[in-house]
Amino acid sequence: MTYIITSLCLRDSGCVDVCPVECIIPGKPIEKWPWFYIDPDTCIDCGACVPECPFEAIFPEDEVPEAYEAKGEEYLSMPAGVAGFDTVYDGEDHHGESVHLKHTRVLEAGEVVDLTKDIQPNYNYFTEGPGYDALD
Ligand code: SF4
Repeated sequence: MTYIITSLCLRDSGCVDVCPVECIIPGKPIEKWPWFYIDPDTCIDCGACVPECPFEAIFPEDEVPEAYEAKGEEYLSMPAGVAGFDTVYDGEDHHGESVHLKHTRVLEAGEVVDLTKDIQPNYNYFTEGPGYDALD
């Protein structure tokens, strides 16, 4: 199994600092890969990243919610070109660096979204995307 970072990710980066096998990689280019991504072949399922995420974006793969019920005010982030994701998010990451995401939307309280669609991009980032090369 592996852990999965979902579209609730707003690039806090605190998860990277605690991962004992250094398998959490920031998405680049950000317009195409807006989240951080977990390498499923290297993740040892320790769970250390979960409490580090201020957005509660990380789940064990078999617990990614198919019907995530929004508390309200959470942001979902998507690659450029996804319809309905036209809100700009500006924030700060774990280290005080600015985070600027152009393709987000804010969830309404009680809105239900399927986060299982976010599983595959974690795999794709290491096969079709830059994967560890993003660190160069
Ligand atoms: Fe890294 Fe552990 Fe999170 Fe897997 S579960 S990404 S090994 S911190």
